[in-house]
Amino acid sequence: MENHNEKVCLFCKKDEESVPLVQVDYKGKTYHICPQHIPVLIHDPGQLEGMLPDAGDLQAG
Ligand SMILES: [Zn+2]
Repeated sequence: MENHNEKVCLFCKKDEESVPLVQVDYKGKTYHICPQHIPVLIHDPGQLEGMLPDAGDLQAG
């Protein structure tokens, strides 16, 4: 099981030592994502399916 308490990018799992991480609060949980993958969250959140709960329901921006 993935540990969502770790401060790593949802997508590439880089930690804040490697990249600046942006905090994302979603459905009562806190996630982090790096600037490289923010566009994925914005434009193609379906790619986060399995990483974020119900990501498939997110609307692309
Ligand atoms: Zn990333």
